[in-house]
Amino acid sequence: MAYSIGIDLGGTNIVVGLVDESCAVVDRESAKTRAPRSAESLTDSIASCIEKLLARHHLPVKQLQAIGIGVPGVVHPETGELLHATNLFLKNVDFPGLIRARFPEVTVCIANDADCAVFGEYLAGAARNYKSALMLTLGTGVGGGFILENRIFRGATGFGIEPGHMAVETEGTVECSCGQRGCLEVYTTIRGLKRMTREALSGGRASVLRDRVDFAEPSFNARLLFEAAARGDVVANEVLDRFVHYLAIGIRNFVVLYRPHIILLGGGISHAGDVLLKPLRAKVARTTVSGDVLPPPPIECCRLGNDAGVIGAAMLHREGLDMRTPA
Ligand SMILES: [Zn+2]
Repeated sequence: MAYSIGIDLGGTNIVVGLVDESCAVVDRESAKTRAPRSAESLTDSIASCIEKLLARHHLPVKQLQAIGIGVPGVVHPETGELLHATNLFLKNVDFPGLIRARFPEVTVCIANDADCAVFGEYLAGAARNYKSALMLTLGTGVGGGFILENRIFRGATGFGIEPGHMAVETEGTVECSCGQRGCLEVYTTIRGLKRMTREALSGGRASVLRDRVDFAEPSFNARLLFEAAARGDVVANEVLDRFVHYLAIGIRNFVVLYRPHIILLGGGISHAGDVLLKPLRAKVARTTVSGDVLPPPPIECCRLGNDAGVIGAAMLHREGLDMRTPA
């Protein structure tokens, strides 16, 4: 059996997984990221996790097919240099080079973490039996990636898709983090839900949310909103309708341009499950061009959780190869 190492270098934790040929995570090690920290020091932690895994499974380094690393930032498509990672406070870091210096006989690959996650779901998770997959992660921002014919779609610049910044509102008044208005990210994030909830409550209407949401708190528990909507709260359903409206426009735009075989939702907001999925599927079906002739793709939640990024990173060396066997 051949193994690969997949690294998910996050803003809080570094997770290193030992992944077998069937894309199963056999074992994992983790360390705290403790940013800001130098790339060399982060590489020390990564190398230590890899060595522990190899020792625990009595594996010589030469039995590793590859080491793949997913990073929360922009990766140069040709050099593999991490150009910018805000959460890590790092710029212009050659992680493949640093890791190769520790494990010179092993192939080292790198990609953006969202791309690794959708690649993992495509190889071994919710998109396993589909030829192409679009993933949208809905949380503090809207991230995502697109897999087409066994490859991460990187576009002309090599930096892939930015689904959070597609325009879904031409009359938008709220400014996005990118400086534009009307971006998907303005509406379909935790912050967007919080703002829309505050707006919906502003007229003094009755809602269970009024006593349960503390708008002075920086955080917002989206689960409260979805639970209230499921129980029939009118205000909560209005907010959910707005959320679904904008997300459906974003998905519709992708569907008419690329016709992905499946659309996956990930991130904290996707944990809402059916209360979100059911109206979203209905709205996308109603608004997609030729919806009755060319039905829209299935919309499902991601399945692998945090393992998706580890599996996708571990398998980056197989990008472009059809390595999936039908489930
Ligand atoms: Zn934007």
